[in-house]
Amino acid sequence: MITSFRACALSALALVTALSHGPATAQQKPAPISESEVRAHIAVLASDDFEGRAPGTSGEMKTIDYLAKTWDSYGLVSGTNDPANPWFQPVPLVERKPYAQSFSAMRGTRPLKIDSDALILTGRNATDAVSGAPVFVGHGVGADGKLNADVRGRIVIMLSAEPKFEGAAKLPTRREREKLLAEAGAAAVLLTAPKGAPWASVRTALAGGSMRLASDDVSTTISGLIRPDAANALIKPAGMSLATATKRAGEPDFVPVDLPVTLELAASTQVRSFASHNVIGKIPGAKPGSGAVVLLGHWDHFGICRSEEAEDRICNGAVDNASGMAVLLTVAERLARAAAQGAQLDRDVYFMGTTAEERGLLGAYHFADNPVVPLDQIVVALNIDTVAIAPKGAPVALVGRGESGLDEIVDQIAIAGGRTVDTDTEANAFIRRQDGWALGAKGVKSIMAGGSFSDMALLQAFLTSVYHQPDDELTDKTELGGAADDANLHIDLVRHFADEAKYNPATTGD
Ligand SMILES: [Zn+2]
Repeated sequence: MITSFRACALSALALVTALSHGPATAQQKPAPISESEVRAHIAVLASDDFEGRAPGTSGEMKTIDYLAKTWDSYGLVSGTNDPANPWFQPVPLVERKPYAQSFSAMRGTRPLKIDSDALILTGRNATDAVSGAPVFVGHGVGADGKLNADVRGRIVIMLSAEPKFEGAAKLPTRREREKLLAEAGAAAVLLTAPKGAPWASVRTALAGGSMRLASDDVSTTISGLIRPDAANALIKPAGMSLATATKRAGEPDFVPVDLPVTLELAASTQVRSFASHNVIGKIPGAKPGSGAVVLLGHWDHFGICRSEEAEDRICNGAVDNASGMAVLLTVAERLARAAAQGAQLDRDVYFMGTTAEERGLLGAYHFADNPVVPLDQIVVALNIDTVAIAPKGAPVALVGRGESGLDEIVDQIAIAGGRTVDTDTEANAFIRRQDGWALGAKGVKSIMAGGSFSDMALLQAFLTSVYHQPDDELTDKTELGGAADDANLHIDLVRHFADEAKYNPATTGD
């Protein structure tokens, strides 16, 4: 049967249009991200050549250069939205490394016996010394969250454990309590190390120095960590043990205890101010102003982390977090290619490698204070950290389950992608230990979804072996099945959250 010319031409046109846009795009659904693609990026980022990716080193320069150039080669544009600083958002930091210290403790004229390595002290300046009678303040705050003592000029001994008072609302974190003490004029803070903390590794970690954002550089003249046995020796002259004092500190009527001891502390410290960088790329959306999806992961690790005698001096951070960056790179490649072929998403999609996560989520906090797009425009932040743990097909767990209102959506997307989901909240133990927290704490819907946090035994096996050690390296045995799975999951997540029709933050409750 012959129809009219006009109808015929129309259907031919429709066919051509359909081939070049509609069905063609669906057919071009890119191949899933493979383990070997993930491996290739980890191999670069975790190579000895990148020196463990410490902020403020040549390892940083190589790392941020690799991230920006690779994203650029995939077709992303700078996401800093700052022409003066394309790709790299400067993050001003202050680093302090202790290199010498001394202390003494006297009860009257009698010296107390305390191991010379039972305190680890850092000064605010190159050389600092303070002395006086210490006060044990428990957690430092009462149930109202306010300081519980007049600490001006004092040496303060404070529990590092987070306070838990019945009925109390949100209480300040350890870092916030330290800040409160500094702002109230305390001369020194000695934090009690958690009981059973492996002192040798604590020492190693502290010897690597501490970092703060320059915008948040508040501290006492001397700050330090004190081993429980040494804290016990200082508290004992007041007629109680550290255990008793700790128990009392948790009671609502706790009163700080002046210790009848004279403590002298001195510290020599290397202080360095420098700028590190968050690296930010973007795939522009088709509908400017419709919001943004932010994928983030930390590029940094501990750098050259062992002394000269050590056989392997570099903490390569293959799993933590070259693996997460490999996911950010491969996901960016697929989505940018799809966008170039016409499958542009509505919303801008940002890819950010953060700095100094290992030093306290500093790059992420800096971004939260200086976002490149207003925080209320970010419809979701997806953090990706330590993904090369679980095998292929592991259930998807959420760090932040129950916190964002997005659990159901993420579960559905995971299931649609062929995964199972782990719906318990075990993974929330890590909620404050990952960059997403810096954004979540400011009200951004923030989740970390993936297989690594579903099998706690597997995760613990990593955390108690090569984690933060020179042995976190890429080997033939590195498990990348879960990493590739998680990369593919994130493609699906971004496609959903960056689509205005599929996801409207206004109609998703918390
Ligand atoms: Zn780490």
